[in-house]
Amino acid sequence: MPGFVFSEKPIRLVRGDGPYLYDDAENEYVDAGASYACVPLGHRHPGVRAAIDDQLDRLTYVQGSYPVAARTALYDLLADVAPGDLDYVWLCNSGTEANEAAIKFARHATGRSEVVAAIRGFHGRTMGALAATWSQEYKQGFEPLVGGVSFVPYDDTAALTDAVTDETAAVILEPIQGEGGVNPASPEYLQAARDLATDVGAALILDEVQCGLGRTGRMWACEESGVVPDVLTSAKGLANGLPIGATVVREWIAENPGSHGGTFSGGPVVCAAAAETLRTIRDEELPAHAASVGQHLRDRLETDLGDVIREVRGRGLLVGVEVKTGATAAARDLALDQRVLVIPTGRTVLRYLPPLILSTDDADRLADATVAVADRLTL
Ligand SMILES: *Cc1c(COP(=O)(O)O)cnc(C)c1O
Repeated sequence: MPGFVFSEKPIRLVRGDGPYLYDDAENEYVDAGASYACVPLGHRHPGVRAAIDDQLDRLTYVQGSYPVAARTALYDLLADVAPGDLDYVWLCNSGTEANEAAIKFARHATGRSEVVAAIRGFHGRTMGALAATWSQEYKQGFEPLVGGVSFVPYDDTAALTDAVTDETAAVILEPIQGEGGVNPASPEYLQAARDLATDVGAALILDEVQCGLGRTGRMWACEESGVVPDVLTSAKGLANGLPIGATVVREWIAENPGSHGGTFSGGPVVCAAAAETLRTIRDEELPAHAASVGQHLRDRLETDLGDVIREVRGRGLLVGVEVKTGATAAARDLALDQRVLVIPTGRTVLRYLPPLILSTDDADRLADATVAVADRLTL
């Protein structure tokens, strides 16, 4: 099929509204993950649309070397909501670029080149971020990648202690692994990673591309542990559906970042959308909402699916249901029969990443739909 490099699904989505998507026959779907966490405020959010319109009216693009109000406002807001003293921002267009910059900055600031990453971690698909990504599935046929990366079992402090040395430029981790199957790290592990990085003078990079922005019940997932990284990366939902990535760093990294740049770094329109998204998440207290609706969803899935599933994992509205097998078939049935869109990871995890504005009634709809396909999960 010319023109199609990647697989497509047999549902033609034409319109979105809040947590719902509609196909060309006006069937309604709950967008419980198909947005890849990219629309935390839901589709067609009025405030974000107004911010985009307003910016389009004035200026769509200007080269990054001139200050622009929309970009400056986003820098300030990101520094304000980022944990601790993470005050310096680099903007780009995606999660993989944000991690690519994180690794470059860490190498330059430390003068070292080795990176310690986690088994089952996912950081993106460009050569550097891909090198720090675990799964062979993403790397097959693309080697040689960037060298110097070693992998350790996730949430295993002893293994991390052995791997981090005075040759280490960076330790890169997701506070909760998303693609790897919704695996939260313990607060003690993140604290150990913080201490080890500090001891050897390496940068601790926390990749919050999937778990950040209020989804886990706090603005950033690392806040649960109290750990402040040297570099935090964000992307996916940051501009509520427009392409953006952000690398937020501490002063010692910002002082010596090397030469890095990008033509579309901090374009005014995406910056306006991102600032409105961040402000809305903060001012409408969506992290707290995500925590309570997410707890309700996890409780219902645990209660109703009981013996059928192995485990319900996650925080807030980043939820993984570990099943014995059949996650892919169940996700297809959820989409086609129940009109609920989720993303499986591997053969055994159903993943729910709905917009943070999800109501309790919609959470019940997700739980009911999952129960309706439960016979697919018992194989
Ligand atoms: C999706 C994802 C990325 C890559 O983001 P892209 O925008 O697809 O490049 C990186 N890290 C994590 C944790 C992700 O979930």
